Amino acid sequence: MSTRNDIEAARRGAVAPAAPLVWKFGGSSVADHDRLRAVAERMVAAQRSGRGVVAVLSAMGKSTDQLVGQAYAMSARPPMRELDALLSVGESISCALASMAVAELGSRAVSLTGAQAGVSTDDRHGNARLVEIRPQRIREALAEGAIVLVTGFQGVGPDGDVTTLGRGGSDASAVAVAAALGVDECEIFTDVPAVFTADPRVVPDARRLSSIRHEEMLEMAEAGAAVLQPRSVELAVSHGIDIHLRSSFSAEEGTWIRREAAGFEGTGSSEVAGIAHRRQESIYTADDTGAGTVVAALAERGIAVGALVPIDTGVRFTAPGAEPAEVSAALDAVGAVAKVDEELGSVSVVSLGIARKPDVVVRALAALEAAGIAPRLITTTPGRITAAVPSSQVDDAVRLLHRTFIPAAVATIVSDLRPPADAA
Ligand code: ASP
Ligand code: MG
Repeated sequence: MSTRNDIEAARRGAVAPAAPLVWKFGGSSVADHDRLRAVAERMVAAQRSGRGVVAVLSAMGKSTDQLVGQAYAMSARPPMRELDALLSVGESISCALASMAVAELGSRAVSLTGAQAGVSTDDRHGNARLVEIRPQRIREALAEGAIVLVTGFQGVGPDGDVTTLGRGGSDASAVAVAAALGVDECEIFTDVPAVFTADPRVVPDARRLSSIRHEEMLEMAEAGAAVLQPRSVELAVSHGIDIHLRSSFSAEEGTWIRREAAGFEGTGSSEVAGIAHRRQESIYTADDTGAGTVVAALAERGIAVGALVPIDTGVRFTAPGAEPAEVSAALDAVGAVAKVDEELGSVSVVSLGIARKPDVVVRALAALEAAGIAPRLITTTPGRITAAVPSSQVDDAVRLLHRTFIPAAVATIVSDLRPPADAA
């Protein structure tokens, strides 16, 4: 990311005088011209109140999906370099339009591409990793009093070509920009109001969290909670940045994803932070292939292996979060074939230090068993237990485990939500 010197210098006050606000707006927050105008208004208001503003923007609405569709309409195997050249355009459009909207409001903004903003990555097109950000132009534009709009999701590789950071990568861009500027807070504006103890579309009485620890959020994100890209949380951990995830459609506070437990109210008496799930969690088999070959082939494409079991005929493995098409393309490249064994989903109980809490594991597995849900694979990390279950049982498993571990919201909270008597 930024060099340690940059950060130290900023901390000593030797670089920028007042810390700028670092914001990120997701695709739904910039989905159309009216929303872009609303974003521009929020930025201009903050700037007029005396703060520098750096905003990292995603592509408008579902436009990245549309660009992917265009690429595959042209070619079944688009060259990754050209795919990046195409996909990166979405974020450039958002930033240029937002800059125009700011100008309409009588302020000045400067849009910067990843390359212009000094965002360097490795050369893994489609799934590049951030290497460093040299935010010279961001600082200059701030010093000139401009609102700075940085394209999310993109950077520049060692050979000067545009790269993209993997789907959802604008979250990582935003946290990295904050780190590079020596700012210890990053606000992510999105279409959900907060982080919940489970997906509220599956568990309507899931609890809204006002704060959650970095490590818990990382486990939730890795287990499928789609509110934040896992890599952005990793960056927040390594650079000590607090993330405030909040709705771009209201002024309400959302969830603070914090370094330390201070102010953490979590889920009250429960030791479980939340229940996460994934609708698709395939188990693959690659015949006549060694474990090392599989791991290397997937790593080449930036895909991480979940479980890996050598069997007599080859290897069985999972690749959490990766599309089956990506997995077969990766193995194809080394002359191996990955066959999807079973269409599964997964449900995870997130609880830090779960290795020292056998009771949590026992209760989770007993609850699933009592409900007739038979996990096909169980994996653990230091912060969660994940059970692969038939896709059709994912929702039931999430509700069941939420009931098992997360105490129901107390009555006073419910009555707080009732409209005041005079509103009737
Ligand atoms: N526009 C990219 C995507 O849809 C990156 C992002 O929005 O974070 O994945
Ligand atoms: Mg996103």
